[in-house]
Amino acid sequence: MRTEFSEDQLADPRLSQANDILRKCVHCGFCTATCPTYVELGNELDSPRGRIYLIKDMLENDKPASTEVVTHIDRCLSCLACMTTCPSGVDYVHLVDQARIHIEKTYDRPLADRLMRDLLAAVLPYPGRFRLALAGAFFGKPLAPLLLKMGGPFRRMGAMLKLAPSSFAGRAGKAETGNLFPAISPRAGRVAMLTGCAQPVLDPGINAAAIRLLNRLGVEVVLPEGEGCCGALVYHMGREAAALDFVRANVDAWTREIDGEGLDAILITTSGCGVTIKDYGHMLAGDPAYADKAARVAALAKDISEYLTEIDLPEPVNRTGLTVAYHSACSLQHGQKITLQPKMLLEKAGFAVRDVPEGHLCCGSAGTYNIMQSQIAARLRARKVTNIESLKPDLIAAGNIGCMTQIGAGTALPIVHTIALLDWAYGGPRPGALDGIAAPDGQIQAAE
Ligand code: SF4
Ligand code: SF4
Repeated sequence: MRTEFSEDQLADPRLSQANDILRKCVHCGFCTATCPTYVELGNELDSPRGRIYLIKDMLENDKPASTEVVTHIDRCLSCLACMTTCPSGVDYVHLVDQARIHIEKTYDRPLADRLMRDLLAAVLPYPGRFRLALAGAFFGKPLAPLLLKMGGPFRRMGAMLKLAPSSFAGRAGKAETGNLFPAISPRAGRVAMLTGCAQPVLDPGINAAAIRLLNRLGVEVVLPEGEGCCGALVYHMGREAAALDFVRANVDAWTREIDGEGLDAILITTSGCGVTIKDYGHMLAGDPAYADKAARVAALAKDISEYLTEIDLPEPVNRTGLTVAYHSACSLQHGQKITLQPKMLLEKAGFAVRDVPEGHLCCGSAGTYNIMQSQIAARLRARKVTNIESLKPDLIAAGNIGCMTQIGAGTALPIVHTIALLDWAYGGPRPGALDGIAAPDGQIQAAE
């Protein structure tokens, strides 16, 4: 694509990067076929190519963001399916990040929009506040259908309540307590694990399962003081300064461990966070005090499924034979290019794994997208659930709490994190969501 940034503009590293990205696009349009918003809405401006043109015009001409640009960029899920498809290697994610930062600086959003974004930014990254909000949402949940029907500014509140868990007991396992979890068998490794923000509130059993399994496999797990939200939630709102505060705090916390007892890896059980943490080096490249440390942290970041495929796993204790529809989160398959590892692990653990038709299409979760763009998100959820249910599985597995919450709001099938299934297969407790689900022969079989 031909660009016309001035020399002064190209002296700005951000615009210079945007220029390099834009020039790679040959406007072939291959990406449109796999873009969920284009597939659903059929509007070129809701396709990657259309958005690239809008961003180019805005940045090249140094225009404040217009309502039209904001509408179409806000509708982008950042699912990154376009990056998987693009034959030219267009780095769309870093272009749309720039667009969002520009929008945040130059566009005056309507009041209701601003208030909702402020509310989400003030609550979701903080587990204590989110826990309180969720308790309120639990009681307000019956109002969700009414609010959704009322539409307008009430729709987002309704979407939020619809996503709230209908039962804490079914989803929540035991939360981990303490900061150091020693290996049970001879120590074979030492890792840090991201505690995160929303996931431990929505389902504390996920990290607890990961820790149990790792400890049994001889891996010591540390949850360093001072780490928290990865920064993705506010970064995707274009709030760069707030996001970088989270990033620096995490880099500091993990650097203390790296320089202390050392770390083999920084493990992440929420793949949406994994994409961002693997990008820390890029996000802080312009900060001389943090650039090297952030790059070191990013190089150690791994999704839990990546790490587990690199170590020797024993034979499973429980081979259930249950049929699992594996939902490949966009942040795993497109954001981190992790497609085979979770399925291989589940199969090795004795599950019958099925790929979901149209598995490349986002479920509509995408951080706060299912609240801010609830109508498109609901369409994508319905499409995803239809595809999953066509497989007639016993359960759904996924590696991202956002997808689990989104899909779980549209189906009666149990949905369980991949790591909780692996923990169960290798001797951990049965995930609570599977209460009442029997193995094909009616009982859980023990391995020989
Ligand atoms: S597939 Fe890549 S090169 Fe083709 S239009 Fe989309 S972003 Fe541009
Ligand atoms: S990130 Fe997803 S929604 Fe956004 S343009 Fe790319 S494919 Fe479409």
